[in-house]
Amino acid sequence: MNKPVQAIDTHSVMFITQRPEVIMVEGKGSWITDNNGKRYLDFLQGWAVNCLGHSNPGMVAALNVQAKKLINPSPAFYNEPMIGLSNLLTSNSCFDKVFFANSGAEANEGAIKLARKWGQINKNGAFEIITFEHSFHGRTLATMSASGKPGWDTMFAPQVAGFPKAELNDLESVKKLVTDKTVAVMIEPIQGEGGVIPSTKEFMHELRKLTKENNILLIADEVQAGCGRTGSLFAYQLYGIEPDIMTLGKGIGGGVPLAALMASNAVACFVPGDQGGTYNGNPLMTAVGISVIEQLLAPGFLDSVKAKGELLKSELLKLSAEFNLEGERGEGLLRALMLGKDIGGKLVELARDRNPEGLLINSPRPNLLRFMPALNVSEDEIHQMANMLRELLKQTA
Ligand SMILES: *Cc1c(COP(=O)(O)O)cnc(C)c1O
Repeated sequence: MNKPVQAIDTHSVMFITQRPEVIMVEGKGSWITDNNGKRYLDFLQGWAVNCLGHSNPGMVAALNVQAKKLINPSPAFYNEPMIGLSNLLTSNSCFDKVFFANSGAEANEGAIKLARKWGQINKNGAFEIITFEHSFHGRTLATMSASGKPGWDTMFAPQVAGFPKAELNDLESVKKLVTDKTVAVMIEPIQGEGGVIPSTKEFMHELRKLTKENNILLIADEVQAGCGRTGSLFAYQLYGIEPDIMTLGKGIGGGVPLAALMASNAVACFVPGDQGGTYNGNPLMTAVGISVIEQLLAPGFLDSVKAKGELLKSELLKLSAEFNLEGERGEGLLRALMLGKDIGGKLVELARDRNPEGLLINSPRPNLLRFMPALNVSEDEIHQMANMLRELLKQTA
């Protein structure tokens, strides 16, 4: 703890974001340690990615075994983990087919292409995909165009065309945008980067009904909310609806680059040449994905996520009452504390810089904090986090 702070030379790292002057060197479970030996309680987990915490033993074992066996046969061949994970995902969801990619954005690109292809075959070339204000679907040009992040419409203009934006939880705003060119609606069941905003049950049901009646596909972007994050294996299951296409990312790899595009048989219309990618179905990554999904499906695991979500919720509500804040929202272990004023960024820094142990949280909007701990976070760690935050809220009060 008292080791001198080492100067770090970062001149060759392309500047894309402001990073603190530390290097993260190791992690275990809910804790990550920097080059000065300082420990941080990690309620970010790589942005809801490390669903089983840092260096989960099952994942490490899967990586080791597969690395010794076969790392890359090329995507021109089947491999065992690719088939195993596809079967695991389809047998535990309403989907029939899986294509693996490396990132959420890439899975969403695949979903956009698949919907447009389906539109060419079945809907007279319909290609428009209705998305939502404040949604986030990734950082490729098409997924940035699909996203409803303020300012992104002009950032790398011109955008990819064909993504009209509706308002979340407002069916009329969707209806207004439906034309004979509409092929799909793409939605995050819970908007993550937008500030943890759940779609209502009623809205999801009406949206499913509207899309069915108009022969429009429903695409669920579950890159953040899927894979156990909400306490249900997939977020759409919370709503009791079945989308036609779903994308997964983040949690599915538990920290390694893995994502998935899933579709029903009726929609999976790619033919050879339409879709690919050098690392698609890479056995090293899919082997880890199997370990992750098997651990999420272990008896009692998802129930424990729900229980810990309730605990986190009650701790956040306590803080809200103590400091006169504006409550909390979310589902399972994807939650936000509404601050009522724009102190999110300041709290994130104070939390990180506190001593002797830091706390990692995030503020996707200045007036709220987001929490996305490991799904196997302990009750004690949730209490520790709340106590650290309590102390910081006192400081800023
Ligand atoms: C993070 C995220 C993405 C993008 O995933 P990347 O792996 O960063 O490309 C897409 N959609 C949602 C809902 C996300 O949260």
